[in-house]
Amino acid sequence: MIKKIFLIITIGLEITMAQNIDLAQNLYSNYEIYRENKLTHRRFKHTDILPLINEVRRRGIFSVEKAGQSVEGRDIYLLSIGSGKSKVFLWSQMHGDEPTATMAMFDVFNFFHTNDGLDDIKKTILDNLTIYFMPMVNPDGAEVYQRRTNYEIDINRDVNRQQTPEGVILRKTFESLKPEFGFNLHDQSTRYSVGNTFKSAAISFLAPSLDHERSVDSVRENSMKLIGELYRTLNHFVPGHIAKYGDDYEPRAFGDNFQKWGTSTVLIETGGWKGDTEKQFLRKLNFITFISAFYGIASKAYKHESTKLYDQIPKNEEYIFDLILRNLKYKKDDKEILIDVGINRTENNYNGAKEFYYTSSIDDLGDLSVFFGYEDIDLDGYELYHGKTYPNQFSSINEINKLDFTKLYKEGYTSVILNSKSDGKPFTDLPINIQLKNQRKNNSNQKLLGSNPNLIIKKNGEVHFAVINGFVIGVKSPLGKVFNALVH
Ligand SMILES: [Zn+2]
Repeated sequence: MIKKIFLIITIGLEITMAQNIDLAQNLYSNYEIYRENKLTHRRFKHTDILPLINEVRRRGIFSVEKAGQSVEGRDIYLLSIGSGKSKVFLWSQMHGDEPTATMAMFDVFNFFHTNDGLDDIKKTILDNLTIYFMPMVNPDGAEVYQRRTNYEIDINRDVNRQQTPEGVILRKTFESLKPEFGFNLHDQSTRYSVGNTFKSAAISFLAPSLDHERSVDSVRENSMKLIGELYRTLNHFVPGHIAKYGDDYEPRAFGDNFQKWGTSTVLIETGGWKGDTEKQFLRKLNFITFISAFYGIASKAYKHESTKLYDQIPKNEEYIFDLILRNLKYKKDDKEILIDVGINRTENNYNGAKEFYYTSSIDDLGDLSVFFGYEDIDLDGYELYHGKTYPNQFSSINEINKLDFTKLYKEGYTSVILNSKSDGKPFTDLPINIQLKNQRKNNSNQKLLGSNPNLIIKKNGEVHFAVINGFVIGVKSPLGKVFNALVH
């Protein structure tokens, strides 16, 4: 008899898990019908989401209310749907430059409006849950694409002191709802890897700690179980690309305290995916995660998970560079050494944070065999040289524009000199750096480490590649593209 019951439970569990994968597969295949097409890149602002929120209100499926205002007077909204007993609360972008989950929320709003044959799933979700969404908790930060608020305070260190109006809104909303589940939605560095594997952490989960001892009570256990289920589901689509965020207790953070105050909290950190600069694929994974979580909570499928799966999720580690050039010969005082070069690209805001440009640097060199690069190029047999500055001067960008860049690379040049005033833009779309004559420093520094990578790569005396501001470009073959070079 016991055996029989066990068998029934096991079959039941397998069916629920299979259903969850089926649902996720369905969402994955048909994502385009849900995708909010008005959001196409990361640097959208509060004014971009206002008409979308109004459209959600007009459709009448969600209830939409103002929860309060940011320091600069931008409205922060709370949208809700469902009539179930269990309350679920999701908040996004408390860090202004972490927008991926906000985009996915708008896909979720479309999901409940779309006629897609998933009525049973939606009914299960909405009969059992009432789901609350607070998109873009930090609209002032989003406006200038920065982590902190107008007060220069990190909201996620303000749960107790309550000095930011945005933090007050978030805590007040939480206290009025007392949700069963909370989803704390962020973006992490794109350079986290899954353990020491050569895979980027596309999504990292955490059931935040509620004390320094990392105790596990039933509240935290439920978030661990749910994460286990979500881990299994997502691994189906991006095998090996899901990690666990560091579990150090942070007494000033919202997630850790919400967990302590009785809400099973799930931290979702969106990371990096090769080629997905604007995080549109990662946004799709967020969307699938949210709907899978709703269904998992509503169907109570997560309760059948053990916390073992959560414990097995590999940790976030830092084994990624944006670019690694391997096995290069490099001459140092007549001595030839063999080096790998690890290059990272830092994104800088420009034009009111509507645009951005990269500045790159060589962050490590030597034996980098334990690391991997989003771009990883084996240059065994090639020699590395510092790029030179072309001696002739030019009087306009237009003149520079007409140059034969391939010819310049072949002669070992990675920079040219402009002797007129520039327009003040610190970067150029041209594939060569521009040095301003009046700002020229005597560049006798031939160090690699910490420098801006402007390099020439040769084989048998012939130039094969140039590296301009950390972007590799083929000289003998059409390879790579310079996203931007620098004007300095
Ligand atoms: Zn964050």
